Amino acid sequence: MLDADFFRRWMTATAASVVREAERLTALDSPIGDADHGSNLQRGFTAVSAVLEKEAPQTPGAVLVLAGRQLISTVGGASGPLYGTLLRRTGKALGEADEVSEEEFARALRVGVDAVMQLGGAAPGDKTMIDALVPALDALDDGGFGAARAAAEQGAEATTPLQARKGRASYLGERSIGHQDPGATSSALLVAALAEVAEA
Ligand code: ADP
Ligand code: MG
Ligand code: MG
Repeated sequence: MLDADFFRRWMTATAASVVREAERLTALDSPIGDADHGSNLQRGFTAVSAVLEKEAPQTPGAVLVLAGRQLISTVGGASGPLYGTLLRRTGKALGEADEVSEEEFARALRVGVDAVMQLGGAAPGDKTMIDALVPALDALDDGGFGAARAAAEQGAEATTPLQARKGRASYLGERSIGHQDPGATSSALLVAALAEVAEA
């Protein structure tokens, strides 16, 4: 079973990974964006870690709802409301239970990813974070957290030959082809942090 501490550790592991990889995320966002994805997420997830430490929410749902709200209020770019919605809606779907099973979490995460697709209008293949998140969800159902990590990484790499159809990169049309999507790359970090915490 997964408790509030598991979800808090997921968020702090994500923050550490985003800080470590901030330069790479920003570099990916420079040819097909505005070179701020690393700094956006570094600011956002650092604030998430801080608020979770300060308020110490006691259920898995409350951890993710608070984390999502914090991202929405600290990240101005497209990725803030999108990741914020992912976490907030996943957290809401978990309800008020003290502990949740891996299956319950997988179902809740699917609710969160669906909410991101609703909000941003992106579908798989549009060269966005969705291209890492949807394969991760499918792998999570079949193979657990380790399989989800591998699927998210593959999904992120598979965005390179795609033409962007959503977000800032879509303004470039065909010139967006040949670059890995920064948001799909950070989604793979989010899923990798989940596997890291599950294996610890
Ligand atoms: P901004 O583009 O506002 O500077 P970021 O650089 O932080 O925001 O985030 C860019 C990433 O957000 C993209 O690489 C993409 O993965 C994701 N993204 C942008 N628009 C959408 C959307 N409509 N749906 C899903 N993901 C999106
Ligand atoms: Mg950007
Ligand atoms: Mg920006």
